Amino acid sequence: MPEGDTVWRTAHRLDTALRGAELTRSDLRWPSVAELDLRGASTVGVVPRGKHLLHRLDTGLTIHSHLRMEGQWRVVATPELTARSLADSMLRAALGTMAWTALGLRLGMLDVVPTAAEHTLVGHLGPDVLDPAAETADMVAAVERAPGTIAEALLDQRLLAGIGTFYACESLFLTGTHPWSAAARLDREALGGIIERARTLMRANLPHAVQSTTGLRAPGQRSYVHGRLALPCRRCGEPVRVSGSSGSGPPSTQERAIFYCPTCQGGLAPADRGEPQRPLGSSPRRGVRQPTRTPRTSH
Ligand SMILES: [Zn+2]
Repeated sequence: MPEGDTVWRTAHRLDTALRGAELTRSDLRWPSVAELDLRGASTVGVVPRGKHLLHRLDTGLTIHSHLRMEGQWRVVATPELTARSLADSMLRAALGTMAWTALGLRLGMLDVVPTAAEHTLVGHLGPDVLDPAAETADMVAAVERAPGTIAEALLDQRLLAGIGTFYACESLFLTGTHPWSAAARLDREALGGIIERARTLMRANLPHAVQSTTGLRAPGQRSYVHGRLALPCRRCGEPVRVSGSSGSGPPSTQERAIFYCPTCQGGLAPADRGEPQRPLGSSPRRGVRQPTRTPRTSH
């Protein structure tokens, strides 16, 4: 699932391509906004907010989108736009100027609202981890009041916006934190360390299309624990494991998958009995149920 850094890069790309120019193509393939014709409006800017994208127009409207699991915005030179790319059944939006066209594919959400009403869509979000002006101390204050585990708190976009499972798992591993520690039980220094680590990792990935926390970009080498189920921990060599973010069982439709090393991170998850888990992509029958979550809500 795209996390804050991917959304940030997407916003930057859209902003660079569209800002200041008049829309000459407006094709929104989404039931609630399909009738809208935005041609003639100019883009004031495209900004990220957590995992949300806000595309502001000079007509006082904002096109709001969310990538959810597989969404993306592609930018192509308008003269090179083909009938085939416009016929893509996954295409949810095409917004073009004379120079560039943005193609929104597999979007998870698409709305058009008055810019003055953006807060109705993103007002519930906590401080954006990629906003340089956002204070880590404010995020710590929010997380230390959270009722659940530290893993759940990092993923709760109402507390701090932008972190998904990749950066949550990697930050918890790199700080040696047990993902199922009660967030409220961790001291401020520890919480600040975890959140700062996530912010640093995400900032470091802003220029890159492929996320990596190890500094390596080759397939299979980009993370310490995320996606590395049953593979040896890069620190201690013990198999990496996965469990649900609340600690009450394996990842399910209700829960996010947290990859971790029991040896480096203070023990097994509460509901993890330590039975062998099989690598991702192997037969699901004998192994742990693989995470296939489709979020019920968009944060
Ligand atoms: Zn380890």
